Amino acid sequence: MSIHKLSVEDQKTYDSIFMQNREWADDKKKHDRSFFKEHFKEQNPHFLYIGCSDSRVPIGDLTGMDIGDIFVHRNIANLVSLEDDNIMAVLQYGVDVLQIKNIVVSGHHGCGGVIAANSGKNYGKMDGWLDKIRAVRLKHAKELDGISNKEEENDLLAEYNVIAQCEQLMQIDFIRKSYEENGYPKVHAWVYDMRTGLLHDMEFDVDSYLEQAKTAK
Ligand SMILES: [Zn+2]
Repeated sequence: MSIHKLSVEDQKTYDSIFMQNREWADDKKKHDRSFFKEHFKEQNPHFLYIGCSDSRVPIGDLTGMDIGDIFVHRNIANLVSLEDDNIMAVLQYGVDVLQIKNIVVSGHHGCGGVIAANSGKNYGKMDGWLDKIRAVRLKHAKELDGISNKEEENDLLAEYNVIAQCEQLMQIDFIRKSYEENGYPKVHAWVYDMRTGLLHDMEFDVDSYLEQAKTAK
């Protein structure tokens, strides 16, 4: 029971969360009695995942990953903002302390953040955040302006946005230094298609990007 007075429908959902949580915990313990005790001791995640907050992209469920497998950061439109203390703390802890070898930036088609940024409308307090997507749009304006179907345009912008965020990651000193010295963390660009439920690897080429960045200086 919640201490708040909820609508009948919300109360039902609220109660089912606790009921299903108990079933989930019991099921885990049924298969492995020390499951939670072992995970409590430490975490060694394989991936650091930066994804969108969208409720329709449940990364654990859609990849079959279990607890302990993925270190997660989510925000609107999966942005890597160098001014964001939150993501910087996640990245430094993940790379320096947990020694995670793979970072994934995953966007998705039908992304509300991308759609809002590309709508020409203002969104008050959200605009500072959306401006980061608008900057990506500006960089690819020629190609995006040539697309007559708005849905297709938004999907392509979501893809460009993922690549741009991967490039941002390589601008962060401790990530770049670790990659140049040790060959990791490796950065992966994914896009999730909500229409099919399938993930696609966009094959972000870190070395080509670093080479380009060097010659552009
Ligand atoms: Zn989204």
